[in-house]
Amino acid sequence: MKKSVREIFGCNVFNDAVMKERLPKSAYKKMRAAIEAGAELDPDVADIVAHEMKEWAIEKGATHFTHWFQPLTGITAEKHDAFIDPQPDGTTLLRFSGKELIKGEPDASSFPSGGLRATFEARGYTAWDCTSPAFIKETPHSTILCIPTAFCSYKGEALDKKTPLLRSMQALDIQATRIMHLFGKNEVKHVTTYAGPEQEYFLVDKEKFLKRKDLIFTGRTLFGAMPPKGQELDDHYFGTIPEKVLQFMDRFNQELWKLGISAKTQHNEAAPAQHELAPIYDQNNIATDHNQLVMETAQRVAEEMGLRCLLHEKPFAGINGSGKHNNWSMSTDTGENLLDPGKSPHENIQFLLILAAILKAVDIHADLMRVSSAVPGNDHRLGGNEAPPAIISVYLGEQLKDVVKQLIESGQATSSIHGEEYDSGVLSLPTFEMDATDRNRTSPFAFTGNKFEFRMVGSTQSIADPNIVLNTIVADSLSEFADILESADDFQKTLHDLIKSTLVAHKRIIFDGDGYSEAWVEKARRRGLPEITCMVDAVPALTTEKAIRLFEKHGVFTQTELSSRAEILYETYAKTTNIEALTMIDMAKKQIVPATIKYQTSLADSINTIKAACDLDTSVQGKLLEDITENLKKMFQALGELEQVTYRAEEMPDGEEQAKYYHDVVSRAMEDLRAPADRLEMLVAKEAWPIPSYGDLIFEV
Ligand code: ADP
Ligand code: MG
Repeated sequence: MKKSVREIFGCNVFNDAVMKERLPKSAYKKMRAAIEAGAELDPDVADIVAHEMKEWAIEKGATHFTHWFQPLTGITAEKHDAFIDPQPDGTTLLRFSGKELIKGEPDASSFPSGGLRATFEARGYTAWDCTSPAFIKETPHSTILCIPTAFCSYKGEALDKKTPLLRSMQALDIQATRIMHLFGKNEVKHVTTYAGPEQEYFLVDKEKFLKRKDLIFTGRTLFGAMPPKGQELDDHYFGTIPEKVLQFMDRFNQELWKLGISAKTQHNEAAPAQHELAPIYDQNNIATDHNQLVMETAQRVAEEMGLRCLLHEKPFAGINGSGKHNNWSMSTDTGENLLDPGKSPHENIQFLLILAAILKAVDIHADLMRVSSAVPGNDHRLGGNEAPPAIISVYLGEQLKDVVKQLIESGQATSSIHGEEYDSGVLSLPTFEMDATDRNRTSPFAFTGNKFEFRMVGSTQSIADPNIVLNTIVADSLSEFADILESADDFQKTLHDLIKSTLVAHKRIIFDGDGYSEAWVEKARRRGLPEITCMVDAVPALTTEKAIRLFEKHGVFTQTELSSRAEILYETYAKTTNIEALTMIDMAKKQIVPATIKYQTSLADSINTIKAACDLDTSVQGKLLEDITENLKKMFQALGELEQVTYRAEEMPDGEEQAKYYHDVVSRAMEDLRAPADRLEMLVAKEAWPIPSYGDLIFEV
């Protein structure tokens, strides 16, 4: 019988309940204190915790443990160690020490470091992030105890996404707590940031997936004509979920719940075969760990069920891509959400100050927000009429926009708009007070009630990057505000003046209209807002003087770490595009061209046969043959061009110039090859075409 959700939820997590039950009282207390203060654990306690963790894991069938970390590849890494400790008598004990729990030393020379270390400097360290609980990864063939860790170089530089995320949470904590104290809330000891990432993905049939090298090697289709039907009828969004997909979701949820991941909402998304999962929000670092597990689990479960899960931002051209809405907020340890405006925002001065800080942060550092969502796949999505434009702006909604307007115009806000009573006119339907604010799905950064929703993030991305930026830029505004307010003679007056002057200075970042429209692009240009349409152009934002000052001030990144990350982004772009170009060349040469020639020959044979048999009209076959030949010629030409520019790109030294060349020249040559190939797909008979079509992939899951 299937176990109930309550039985399985968190059953594979060494969570607070397990620690409370298994650890001696004093060890438990020290462990809790370390988690709450974000402090180190002393070695004796670490030994006790490690022992209990091992016993618990072995009871669950675990044979190995691993430090589980998040290198700059954007995915997770693990290196398994068995618990065995062979004895002289030929048997073995099972051991796991506090030392092994706290620190690991993977030979990590093959992870991207962006020049932070040469290959001969192989040493790297992993260190336990005790604020994110250990868990057991259980797959059909292995059971592994995973310990979430941060990963740094021999010289202490961060080589991962976790370390700077934790640093940024700490930075925001310090600054936001200062602000709380200024408002007389001295009982507040910490302010924590939270994230709720909504994950979009596609499911396709595994057999068909395996017939497409582009999906195998690059995660997206590089060829493919549009099917007769796309998503124009809006009949997939929130539609009834097909049985096979429901089966997948059921198993996916079960696996996530075991890991204590609060998978909550699921639905069909806009494109055929596209779906979404949203968990309940959690502390920033835990949400980041969980989202990595969500992506990994989705892929594993899909595979086990004869499906494949596509996480790419744009698996199919011409059809909606996938993103990851990063819902973000901050709350005090006394339970107050700093982004909750309350019933009458105009009277909530603390909220207005926080709002002003966020608007200022986003306006000044729009370029950093943009680069925080820069992954190669996202270039195909941002700016298309489906995802936010590549221009950062903030949507506040009618209520807040009105309060901000009052403040800017008169320095005083005296009222807040309230939602109207909903009355459908049908007596049996309930009436209720509607929200004071509508939604705007075209905005990249939208206020949604008591949180901001950053919608530019790509579906494959670790949410660490966007949250590092959000936490740090907001920490910076708050620190400036705290400096001013702490030294103010007249606190109330300084506070009001500060809110007003900040709103006046940064109002250009507020935009509530249609972000997909051409008019907005024009308007944004007039307002001087940066429009960064591609990843390669986004990268320099990481190493401007402004960025270095910001990240160094708050101890989030050193200048060297920033430069290394910029290097990695260029490299990632170049390598990704290179793999895509080579895949296209391979598919064109070995599959599409030969299949087309074969079909061309059969058409020519048919003309000859018909002519010889009864000399009938073969003009249809003739016309078809002509069209095919024409496109095949174009394709062959484009293929030669793509081979040439790809070769040239490969020969260039790594870095900005190479990445730019891949963007400006190679990716254009890829489009030139795709166009005639897609036309050929429409000319060649279905059974003669060598790869499954878009229609096969997204309508026949
Ligand atoms: P939507 O209708 O926009 O999808 P939901 O209420 O379903 O809104 O929330 C989407 C995501 O936002 C979920 O992961 C949810 O847990 C998360 N979320 C809700 N409140 C907060 C908050 N205060 N901080 C961060 N994330 C939040
Ligand atoms: Mg949402």
